[in-house]
Order: sequence, then C-alpha cells, then structure tokens
Amino acid sequence: MLRSLTIPSRQNASVFLCCLFGAIFATAGICSAQVAGRVPRVLILYPYDERIPATNIVGESTRVRLLEATAGKIDLFSEFLDLSRFPETPHVDRMARYLAEKYIDRRPDLVIALGKESTSFIVENRNAIAPNAKIVFGGFGSATANELHLPDDVVGALTEFEIRKTAEMAIGLQPNARQLVVIAGSAEFDKAWIDSAQEDLTGLPPNIQTTYLTGLSIDEFVERATALPPDTIIIVLTVLRDRTGRNFVPLNSLERIASAASAPVYGPYSTYLGHGIVGGNAATFESTGAAVASLAIDALAGRAITDVTVPQSYIADARQLQRWRLSEADLPLGTVVSFRERSLWEEYWKEIVAISVFVAAQSLVIVWLVFERRRRTAAELQARRRLLEVIHLNQSATAGALSASIAHELNQPLGAIRINAETAAIMLESKQPDLKLIQQILADIRDDDQRAGDIIDRMRGLLKKRSEVDWQEFDLNDVVRSVIHILHPEALRRNVVVSSVSSTQGLPVRADRVHVQQVILNLATNAMDAMLNASAAERNLVIQTAVTETNEKVEVSISDTGSGIPTDKLSSIFDAFYTTKPAGTGLGLSIARVIIEIYGGKIWADNRPEGGAVFRFVLPLAQYG
Ligand code: ADP
Repeated sequence: MLRSLTIPSRQNASVFLCCLFGAIFATAGICSAQVAGRVPRVLILYPYDERIPATNIVGESTRVRLLEATAGKIDLFSEFLDLSRFPETPHVDRMARYLAEKYIDRRPDLVIALGKESTSFIVENRNAIAPNAKIVFGGFGSATANELHLPDDVVGALTEFEIRKTAEMAIGLQPNARQLVVIAGSAEFDKAWIDSAQEDLTGLPPNIQTTYLTGLSIDEFVERATALPPDTIIIVLTVLRDRTGRNFVPLNSLERIASAASAPVYGPYSTYLGHGIVGGNAATFESTGAAVASLAIDALAGRAITDVTVPQSYIADARQLQRWRLSEADLPLGTVVSFRERSLWEEYWKEIVAISVFVAAQSLVIVWLVFERRRRTAAELQARRRLLEVIHLNQSATAGALSASIAHELNQPLGAIRINAETAAIMLESKQPDLKLIQQILADIRDDDQRAGDIIDRMRGLLKKRSEVDWQEFDLNDVVRSVIHILHPEALRRNVVVSSVSSTQGLPVRADRVHVQQVILNLATNAMDAMLNASAAERNLVIQTAVTETNEKVEVSISDTGSGIPTDKLSSIFDAFYTTKPAGTGLGLSIARVIIEIYGGKIWADNRPEGGAVFRFVLPLAQYG
C-alpha cells in the first residue's frame, strides 16, 4: 500500500472548483510546452525507493496506459526520490538540484507525482526541474490535497474512502450481526480515520451497535478481537501506532488482529486483501494508476483537466468468505472476488475433457474390439460346427457306400458262427461227444464273434460324430491299418488289391483320428473308383507312409493304377463340387483338404509316370505340431 496513507475525507467541492479553473488556465501551458516534431516527455516521480510495491503498482499501471494511449510515442522518465529514508531538507534540496541539472536539456512536458511527498517536492521545485510542465498527482485524497495548498494547475486523481460502504457490505454478508467494532490506533492518522468513520457511519441500522476501539496496545487489540462474539463485524482502519507508542506498518498490525479475531474482519484498503480481511470498499492501486494516466493523456493532448476521484470497488477474499461461512451470493453486485480456489474441474477442465474424450474413445474402441472378437469367436465356433457336420456327412456317405460290402463281410463270421453252433449241437446229441472238437468249435465261434465285433466297431468308429475336434496323439500306421480293414470287403468286391508300405518307425501325429481316417478313406475310395475301367488284374491300390526328409513330417501317399487326372485339373479337383462322376458330390477332396489344413498339413495330387494317380498329404509329426 502507499506508505503515505491518504487521510480519509469526502471530496471537497471548493477544492474541486479551484482545480477545475486551474486546469483550464493550465492547458495553454501544456500546449506551449509541446514542441512540434518530438514526442512528449513525461517524468514520473516515485516518493520512495523502488522496493515499495504500492507506488510501484500505481506507477506501472500509469506507465502501461500511457504507452498504450500514445502507441509508444512518448518519452517516459522515472525518478525514485527515496524521501522516506532521506526526509531531511538537505537531501531534498540535493535531489532537486540533481534533477534540475539532469533534465536541463530535456525538460519534461508533464510531471506525474505519486504520493503527497512527490507532489509537494515537484510543486516546490517545479521552476528548477520542469518550469513549463503540467503536474498531475495521484495516491491521496482531497483532504491531503487541501493541506498541501496545491496551485490551481496541479490536478490529480483523488483517492477517497467511504467506510460506510465497507460497513454495508459487511452487514449484507452478516445480516444477523448485532455489533460493529471499528479499530484504529493512536497515531494522528489513525485518529483522523476514526473521526472520519464516526461521521460516515451514522445512521446505520438501529439494531447494530457501533463501538470504536482505539487507544489500546497491539496486544490489547488482539485480545479484544479474540473475545468478540462471532456475530460481530470488525472493521480495522489503521494501527500506525499503538497506545504504547510502538509504530507499525498498518498491514502488519491488521494481520495480527485478523488472524486472532473470532469474527470476520473488514478493511478500507485493497492492500489488506489477502492479509485477513473478508473484503471492503476500496480503490485499487491499478485503478489509481489508470485515473492518473487518463488525466495525463488529456493534459498532453491539450484538453482541460480537473481533479477526478478514483473509482472504488467492492473487493472480497474467497478464502475468508469460506473461513467464516459467508455466502458469495450476499456480496454487493460487481464485487471482485480474489483468491478463489478453483475447483479441480475449473483448474484442469481442458485436460479433464481431453482425457475423458480420449478414455471414452478408447473405451469405445475396446468395447467394439471385444464385441468384434466375440462375434468372430462365435462365427468361428459356428463355422467349425458346420465343418464338423459336413465331415460327419462325408463319413456317413462313405459308410453308406461301403455298407453293402461291410454287411457282406459281416455275414461271413455270422454264417460261420451259425454253422459251428449247429455242428456243436449235433455233436452234443451223440452218446460220446468229442469234447475236444466241441471245444475247438466254441473257440472258432468266439473268434468269429470277435471278427464280427471288430467289423461293427470299425463301422461305428467310421460313423463317430464330433461336436468338437478330439485332439489326440496316435500312430498314423494304425490308422492306415484300420482303413485297410474297412476297405477290405469293398476292395474284394471290386477286385482291387490293396497293399500298404508302412514306415517301420512310429508316426505319431496330433489330430482327430477319425478325421484323418476319413481323409484316407476318401482318397482310397476315389482311387478304387478311378480303377473301375482298368483290367481286373491291374487294379492296385497302395497306401504308403514315410517320414519326410526333414524328419519333421509324415507323408502318406495313396496311389492307384486308374485313369489318372487331366494335368490341367490337378489342382481344381480339390475345389468343392468338382466331380466327373454321375452320382458324385465333388466334396470328398475339398473336405480332405480342409481336414489336412486344420492339422497343419498339405495335400496335393499327381499322375504316376506308369499310369494312374497318386495323392499325397503331409502332417507334422506330433513333436513338431
Ligand atoms: P467325388 O468323388 O464325389 O467326385 P471328390 O472331391 O472326391 O468328389 O473327387 C473329385 C473328382 O476328382 C472326381 O470326380 C474325379 O474326377 C477326380 N479324382 C479324384 N480322385 C481321383 C483319382 N484317384 N484318379 C482320378 N481322378 C480322381
């Protein structure tokens, strides 16, 4: 805050008029000081040194506005008079002589004096430093201006205080308050504040009792503030000096009282904000700077200027409102609320929105992927089921095609059983039956029953239905053997000689045994079909198994001595529905290919040089599967 605290008072009308006339006469001076062809020179005088924030804020606010208004076409000079640390007359005179010398060739057209010390300094030394310059001041009120007896052409932005507005703001926030306590120290300035407040606070609502606390030590002030009931309104004016004669910076004395107070504290200075007050009605240093700058701009432009009052505003500290559970809604309209703790949302809403959008998009993608995956899994499951059904249909068709010869084959053991049983019955009717022979007959019956059972088992195995692939490890040679058994009666019927050349080593593969058996059956029945027109002596079907050169796979080949395959059809025969048979379906080879590929293998066909076709497929050995 400005160290030269302005003495509180209402604006004096006579001073206002004096200044008004003074300003009108002064305009000509400013104009004549301006030299065509150069930018105006403005000297800003700071009363103290450069560490005092209050004057710095006013000066900076003035400077920025001047630069903006003139688009930078202005020569700005700043001088820190340091009159607080060096108030003695010799220093003041030295400073005046120094500035008179310094600006001898660049006399300012306008001097801006901040605070009463700067103002009286330039008024007393204007002839030496800036003889033709207009003077604009800021940072104190009309009472101080009156005391300084300023010349008419010295015009300023007056800071006035209306403590009543601060009190009204407090009453609005604390409608249940019954007591208003006004605190001020023992310095002349403090006392003047109390006088002004007493004048200003008359006529407050009758239910509020106003007490003036003054003439106490700082500790007594703190003690009294601590003991006040919570429905009290406390207004701290200034405590520059306490009863014991101790001097204080008002901000510090306020801080001590406000931090200990048991009721909300208010104050008339914007600098008090953030140091314990809930709020008040005050002129900010920025608005003082703005008012000073606009006077200066008018003066430089040759317009008439008169004293103005710096607009005041209601200010409040959101943290104190929260501390005393006071509602922001009860603040006067247009109150500037500072130190509002922004919610997490207010602070990071952009980041939160961006992250939420990202997370939502990612979630959607994940949901979509999961959904797609499920759909694909379901589709795959359905496709697999369909395939298994098709394979089973193929098995049934093969079983159907072989059923006549298998039934025929079954007849043999059954017939033998019947004959043996009849023979045994006859033998048992004799007086001395040959028990050894009967025993032999019964053994034959048992063997034939076993054969019939095996045939039925194979038939049942051929027709086994799968709802899921039954992965198992088995020896491929065993499957070839069982295929030869199944084909045996049909081969007999067709005069086909079926032989096998099996690898001597075990051929373990991992697959569904029934499926692989079906592949070999398809290839073998096709081979028998292809030999229909061959002479009866040349119908040979050879099923061969061997490990491939790399020792990683097993190869099965089914070769025949049939018609062979047209070269251009060697690959298309595996397409579904390709058939050259009148009652063919064209599905056997395509199903065989699907099965082999499911188990990681490959199938292909060739013609044998000596005539006939050879079908080969490879499957990975179990340890490589
Ligand atoms: P289908 O037996 O119902 O015709 P496949 O898919 O099993 O269906 O066979 C397709 C076609 O491939 C047969 O119609 C036949 O023309 C040809 N084919 C299959 N195996 C042989 C073979 N060993 N020799 C000559 N042609 C064959």
